[in-house]
Formats: sequence, structure tokens, C-alpha cells
Amino acid sequence: MLPPEYLEHVSDDIVALYSELDQRIVRDVVRRLMKTGRVTDTATWQIQRAQESGMLYDEIIAEVTRYSNKSEQQVRALFKDIGLKAVEYDSPIYTSAGLSPPPLSMAPAAQQVLNAGLAKTSGYLQNLTQTTASGAQQAFIHAATIAEMQVDSGAFDYVSAIRNAIRTAIEGGEWVTYPTGHRDRLDVATRRAVLTGVNQTASEVSLSYTDDMGCDLVETTAHAGARPEHQVWQGRVFSRSGKSKRHPDFVKSTGYGTGPGLCGWNCRHNFYPYFEGLSESAYPKSELKEYENQTVTYNGGKIKYYDATQKQRAMERAIRDSKRQAAGFDEAVKSAKDEATATAMKQEFNSAAVKLKQQESILKDFTQKTGLERQRNLEQVFGFSHSQSSKAIWVNKKVDIQRQRDIIKEEIRSAGKLPKAAKIHLTPTPINTDSLSFDDKHINAERGHNVTQEQTTKWIRDAKISVTVWNGQYERYYGVEGAVYVDKIKSLVRTAYPSGQYEDNVKAMLEVILKNGL
Ligand SMILES: [Zn+2]
Repeated sequence: MLPPEYLEHVSDDIVALYSELDQRIVRDVVRRLMKTGRVTDTATWQIQRAQESGMLYDEIIAEVTRYSNKSEQQVRALFKDIGLKAVEYDSPIYTSAGLSPPPLSMAPAAQQVLNAGLAKTSGYLQNLTQTTASGAQQAFIHAATIAEMQVDSGAFDYVSAIRNAIRTAIEGGEWVTYPTGHRDRLDVATRRAVLTGVNQTASEVSLSYTDDMGCDLVETTAHAGARPEHQVWQGRVFSRSGKSKRHPDFVKSTGYGTGPGLCGWNCRHNFYPYFEGLSESAYPKSELKEYENQTVTYNGGKIKYYDATQKQRAMERAIRDSKRQAAGFDEAVKSAKDEATATAMKQEFNSAAVKLKQQESILKDFTQKTGLERQRNLEQVFGFSHSQSSKAIWVNKKVDIQRQRDIIKEEIRSAGKLPKAAKIHLTPTPINTDSLSFDDKHINAERGHNVTQEQTTKWIRDAKISVTVWNGQYERYYGVEGAVYVDKIKSLVRTAYPSGQYEDNVKAMLEVILKNGL
């Protein structure tokens, strides 16, 4: 199972990469458009347009290939991670049912599913190369032809015509064409491909485990802001064989395996094994109702949570549109061959930039006032929401607490600039303080820390955390009043200093400790 919050952000990095590529292509197209310049003779112009569009095609093929190689690595790492995560969530459930699920490395069927999913998703991203290049080439030819016709007919001067052409090229930037003829923006197409690939693969891995473990029942995950068609089956238990008397048929009810159904297009739902009499339903009816009826408040009005997220997506899309406009006209300014053209392009750039700023501040206002931003930040920090996934199922609570502790440890490590090898203990390692001698010479005579042995005993007892370093030879105790370093081999308090002498990194570490209520 993969939690909805994880799936929400799973494609962020790859989408950011393709969004960057998208802007590059816009720039390529605009640069070529500017190059076709003022040619008075139609025949010469047509030859030039053909040459430019050929070069553009090659240029974009090279560019997209470079980006898909980059994304290939990201996708590979991502799939490795999701395989492990899917198993990590489900395994404790099997274990508590008295079963012994093998680790992923020992489950050949699941491995196969994972590899097939990876191959499919990267294959899809590779396939975007051709369609993107020809899509952009067509946009170029279309825009160049419009410009030529406008100049030819005498209806527009060159500057207006080229400006119109660039606008047309930028606005028609749906480079990706599906076999069905449907066209999409590059970022939209990648998000859908990655999210769907990840979700389907993880769920197939989970299903291969349910098969091996002979588990018939599964419970779907639930999240606020689910589309209405998915609300009807979220957070409920289903029977895979359809033979259960109490629980409805899994595929028939959820549409699992179909585009609009569970784990289909842009779906963030998933499911995990459920054992009658042992598992506790993770989502009580009241909570599901709450998810369905959740609203946000904006400028005095109430908006359904789902509608609010849709509104947010639309704003984000509009921002990306303005960004490509700004990028396109910026390139036009750079490629302009005369002052008049440059000035006109600069005007377009400025108005795109102003619009972008406005849109960004409206989005910020919206996400702040509705609380959507806060939620997003939380999700990004943890990768998933603790409160919710800890409810997922009782056995998962233990996994979650462990995970939360791991997160805090890493926060402490980075604040305290502790080496990777240092072992951080949120419950300080017990030690018999009576048996410790005290290196008075080093601590007070040499270092002037001005600390007594009684103080160090108290500081060890009151320590918030301890850290093992030097291959286990030293144990350092950190607390509000002071820090003590114990040499465990020599049973010696090697050094100690009060909190007034804490370096910045120790202060930062203490802040993390207190913030997390340790
Ligand atoms: Zn869904």
C-alpha cells in the first residue's frame, strides 16, 4: 500500500524536470520563428522555413533525449523505493495475522511486476520524445505560416505578425499527442504517466503478496478531496474473489484495473490486506463522512475541499502558462534583430511577467486562507501524514512511530552536524554513573569548563538524548543543562560542559529535541 499523501507528491521531481524541458522547447520554437525573419520572397521564405523546422526537430529530439535520460534515473530510483514501501506497509499486517511475508528480494513474482512497471513507465517517457518533437515542429510551422500570411496580405506589419505568431506558438503548446488524438501539455502528460505507473505497479506488487499469502480481503485507503466517483468506495473493505458474504466484489465495486477506477488515471487511492476479526477498519464511517463533507473557507464563502483542490490546480496551470509566455517572449527579446522588434517583444514579456506575479500572489492568498498550503507543507515534510497513516491499521501504528522517530533522528543529525556513523538514541543509553571516574585535569584545568562530577552525574541522568560515536567508544549525553562525553572503554567522563558553552550546532540540536517534545 502507498498512502495518498505519498502519491500526491510522488511525481513532483519528474514533473519539475519536464516543466523545465517544456520551457526550453518554447524557447527553441521562438528562436527559430525569430530567425525566419523578414524575407520578402515567398519561395526563399518557404525554403528557410523548411530548413528551420528540420533543425528544430533535431534540436528538440536531442533535448528531450537528454531530459529523458535524466528522468530515467529518477524513475528507476522511484520504482525501487515504491516496491520497498508497498511491502513495508503491508508486511506488519501479514505478520500480525501469523503469516510470514518474504522480503521483496525473496519474492520473484513481485519483483517481476516491479520491473515490468518500471519498463512500462520509462518506455512511456521515452516515447514522449518523438511526439513532443513533432508536436513542437507543427506548432512552429503553423505559427510561421500565420506570420507569413499576415505579412503577405498586408494586414499586419512584420512586428505585429511575428508577435501574433509567437503567441500562437506558445498558446498551442500541447506538444504531446496520444494515439487517440488527444493532446496534452508535457507536464500534464508526465504527471499522469508517473503517478499512474507508480500506483498501478505498487498495487500489483501488493496483489502479488495477497495471492501468495492467501488473503482475500483488502481495504481501500481514503483521503479528503477525493473525486466524487471515488468517494463511494474509499475506506471500505472488499473481497477479491467476490465470494465474501459481508464484503462486496473488489473489481466490480472499485473499477480497479480501469482508467477511471481505483489506481487509474491520477488516482491517489490504494489498498492493503484486511483480515476479518483481526484487522480494525482504519476509517470509521464518521471519518469518511468528514472527508466527504470537508470544506474550506475563502473570503467568507465555503468551498468543498475537492473543488478547492481543483481550483488550486487550475491556478497552478495558469501560472505555468504565464511562465512559458514569459520564457517565450524573453527568448524573442534576445533573438530580435532590430530595436523595434525587441521593444515590442519586451512589452509582451513585461505583461506576461506582471500577470505571473499577480497569479502567484492570488494563489498564495488562496492556499494560505484556505489552509491548503499548510497541508501541502506538512505533506512535503513527512512524505505522508502521520495522523492519518497511523490510523491506517493498528499494526501500522508501530511502524509509524518507528518512522517518526527516524525522522526526528535525522533532523537532530543535520541540526547537530553529526556524522553519518553517529548512532542517535532518543532514549539515552543507560549507564552506571557510579562506576565512572572524572577527568578533572582535562575538563577543568585544561579546558576550563568549570564543571563538578556531581553536575555530570545529574546531566547524564537528565539527558534528553545520547549519541554513540567513535565505533562505540564514546557516548555523548546532551540535555538542557549540559553535555557529558563518556569514554565507555575507560569508564571515564572525558569531558563535560554547561549549556552556556554550547556551540551553535549543539544549540540547534537542542532546539529540535525540545520542539519534538523529547
Ligand atoms: Zn482515487
